[in-house]
Amino acid sequence: MLGTEKFMTWIDVDQAIKGAQAPISFCVSDWSLSLTDWFHEYARSLPWRELWKSHRCPYHIWVSEIMLQQTQIKTVVPCYLRFLQRFPDVEALASASEGDLRAAVAGLGYYRRFRLLHQGALWIVQRRQQFSGWLWPQSRVEWLEVPGVGPYTSAAIASITLSEHCGLVDGNVERVLSRIFDIRLPSNHPKLKKCFERLADRLISTSFPGSYNQSLMEVGQVFCTVRAPRCESCPVKTFCQAYQANVTHLCPQPKLKKAFEQIRVSVVIPQTLRGEVAVVERKKSFSPFLNETRGFLLVPFGEQHAVLSDPVCHGEVRHTITHHKLEIEVWSGCLRSSCILPDYPFSWLAREQVLSNLQTSFDRKVWKAYSEGLFASALSTGR
Ligand code: SF4
Repeated sequence: MLGTEKFMTWIDVDQAIKGAQAPISFCVSDWSLSLTDWFHEYARSLPWRELWKSHRCPYHIWVSEIMLQQTQIKTVVPCYLRFLQRFPDVEALASASEGDLRAAVAGLGYYRRFRLLHQGALWIVQRRQQFSGWLWPQSRVEWLEVPGVGPYTSAAIASITLSEHCGLVDGNVERVLSRIFDIRLPSNHPKLKKCFERLADRLISTSFPGSYNQSLMEVGQVFCTVRAPRCESCPVKTFCQAYQANVTHLCPQPKLKKAFEQIRVSVVIPQTLRGEVAVVERKKSFSPFLNETRGFLLVPFGEQHAVLSDPVCHGEVRHTITHHKLEIEVWSGCLRSSCILPDYPFSWLAREQVLSNLQTSFDRKVWKAYSEGLFASALSTGR
């Protein structure tokens, strides 16, 4: 007979979820066992899983988790294999040049995560030199100290490589849990964030937390898809309230949309008389967006004179970054002699080098406006 602690009534699951349709009872141990049994028998063979089985080296899992951020598995697999050929271990990665790193991850996008991965490799190698016998972080909390490893990635690595009981929540898990518990709310509803985290921590398998997390994710990717879930073949259909009530299409509800914020801003492009252009390294707290990227300097709208003498306007462009709608005026000119840019390390680049040094579509759009402005003024002056 199952002990009462293995049962959760709906009220126990979380009173905060008002969208649930009816009280339910739920056997946690049966649930986690179904998932892990299924995973141990039918999990897809993926390179990082096979490497973990054969080598038990956290490096392989860490690299895979970084690559899988916002990137589909089928895109990651060939790049992952190429990356490990080029950087087979953490020492090789720590000694990589920026050019090598960029080439190894070409096509995956979001380059910042790999710059941080490289910093993480340097951090690990340094620790190894400092503390003899230390090889890898020994807990989720320790993984959180590694540059580029946030709450989600640390939980994934710690559950897989250290069998630590940390639940994982991503879009797939939110969708599966919404359907399992028939939660008819948008998954980004403010009431649900903490609730999903608590559920993930309470439902996790105590015997195989890593397999559990991966299996829940895999159910979301393979069966519990956004449209047309494959419920008949799903390994957890007997637990699924939405399936049993034939309301999978109602769980979760479409996401709440964040209101767009309109922002007017000026971009200033300092240039020398020889035609070189200043490109800045934007720091972490640069603005609500574009942090830690290389590109042009932004100043409050209309304040181009604070940086440039005799600024020339190259027109206006529009660009959207997450929920910010930007209207941008593009200005160039010589740097004012009184203007120093101490917070933004910058380099003077020849014009033909600029495009390849820009890291965002925002800056490329600005550069296009700048170049077209130059072209138009050259035409009008006949030069
Ligand atoms: S039974 Fe259907 S809706 Fe429920 S978790 Fe499985 S695939 Fe998703």
